[in-house]
Amino acid sequence: MRITVLGSGTCELRAQRSSPAYLVEAGGVRVMLDLGQGAWRRLLDSGRRVAEVDGVVISHPHPDHMADLIPWLFALKYDPVLAAQAQSTLLAHAGLEPLLAALDQAWSGWLNPPLEVLTRRWLEPGDEAALGEVRIGTAAAVHHAHSLAWRLEAGGRSLVYLGDSEAGGELAALARGADLLICHCAGTDQEPKAGHLHPAACGELAAAAGVGALLLSHFYRVVGPEEAVASAAACFSGPVWAAFDGLQLELTAGGVVRPAGICED
Ligand SMILES: [Zn+2]
Ligand SMILES: [Zn+2]
Repeated sequence: MRITVLGSGTCELRAQRSSPAYLVEAGGVRVMLDLGQGAWRRLLDSGRRVAEVDGVVISHPHPDHMADLIPWLFALKYDPVLAAQAQSTLLAHAGLEPLLAALDQAWSGWLNPPLEVLTRRWLEPGDEAALGEVRIGTAAAVHHAHSLAWRLEAGGRSLVYLGDSEAGGELAALARGADLLICHCAGTDQEPKAGHLHPAACGELAAAAGVGALLLSHFYRVVGPEEAVASAAACFSGPVWAAFDGLQLELTAGGVVRPAGICED
């Protein structure tokens, strides 16, 4: 299983940190986790094609986590090359269905690609799904009434993506024993941000869940990546990394590794 960070930022519009988006490649399947603005541009710049994406998972309906749904839905309907090649699935909390219907109505029905091009799966916390060989589990995230945290498993490897969340609920259970936990931090340990984990809380959750490694992401300008890693690492004994746009991690039987040649600069 390979993870590519396409957006390690937030709502802040920054050159180096695009809004949240991650590509997961496993079992011959490509899944996008969240579609912050710029997600498709980052994917295209990485050399992949939009038509190769089998599924899109949305964590919650804040604009910076789903804004690139709009150009995707529009392209699936009106780009004849993409519409002929793509066969993808959108997975999101059931609470997003009326929001997307309202967006489609506001745009006069232009955001409603046919079912043979895009399958919609509306889920509730605890529901399960599958995309090819990738098995998907969910739990409620503690952030927005329509937030879901996600667990992806394939080939004996497992990844948990919380999206934005505070600690609590079923999150530690969802993440139990996963190879990699992607945690969105926001605010500092001294000044935490409501609805989010601060860096030390990310480390505490990783330790409580017994995960193999921790990836911190969702960096606001006020949060220094190096300080965040140090803070989380004080609470969690496994590897801790700070995400940056373009980072790749491979989940292997021997643990989580960073392929050579991928550097921050
Ligand atoms: Zn966010
Ligand atoms: Zn949010």
